[in-house]
Amino acid sequence: MTARRTYRILFIGPPGAGKGTYAKHLEGRLGVPHISTGTMLRRCVAKDAPGAEKVRYHLDRGELIPDNMMIEIIKRRLSEEDTKNGFMLDGFPRTLVQAKMLDGLLDSMGLGLDYIFNIWTPYNKIVQRALNRAHCEACGRIYNLKNEDISPELLCDTCGGKLVRRGDDRAETLWHRLEVYDEKTRPIVEFYSERPQFHEIYTGGPVEDGLGKMIDIIEAAEREHDCA
Ligand code: ATP
Ligand code: MG
Repeated sequence: MTARRTYRILFIGPPGAGKGTYAKHLEGRLGVPHISTGTMLRRCVAKDAPGAEKVRYHLDRGELIPDNMMIEIIKRRLSEEDTKNGFMLDGFPRTLVQAKMLDGLLDSMGLGLDYIFNIWTPYNKIVQRALNRAHCEACGRIYNLKNEDISPELLCDTCGGKLVRRGDDRAETLWHRLEVYDEKTRPIVEFYSERPQFHEIYTGGPVEDGLGKMIDIIEAAEREHDCA
């Protein structure tokens, strides 16, 4: 995979299906930034930025942040220089309104999406994973506290940052987030599903399996493009 290519990638899928995990793994390989709207919102709350109270209210309940606010956040982020060759959007779009806005924004810049990965995992697995999930406060790497060897001091293997758990990874909130996903986000799967860039990836198994599939898809598309 060479640097001159663009990678405008969407990860869609229910909470806890692994969007952030896969995007983090691909980030170094593709050289485009991983943009997680959930992480951006949690940072805004942690820093007590303007509007943080409103954001915290929605986050803690597992509800979506209003579309107009999300659209402003994403417009600003996609205007930054580091997204010139692409981005991996994790957590946006999450509603039809957001998906249509993203189409309009990319259209107005003469750009399009390269890959849309719809990832899925059975809900009972999702809940088990999220209840055991922690992440590094500094670099964002995601850990499973049950299946991985974690240092007794709960520090990140990659950067030494502190491992913390998310406030919304509690059983009650999780089931509610899955309901919100079914109602608000699932319609965007249909919105994208007929496009040639759309791919479904099962992420209920080992990370390497799902990751291998994504890399195969990207490499196959590039070979096809090179021969065209
Ligand atoms: P995952 O478990 O894969 O990280 P998630 O959906 O549980 O997925 P985040 O993507 O981190 O978690 O999002 C956490 C919360 O942030 C959501 O429950 C919602 O309140 C808010 N949020 C994030 N992105 C959006 C968005 N595009 N529109 C509205 N709310 C959002
Ligand atoms: Mg996430």
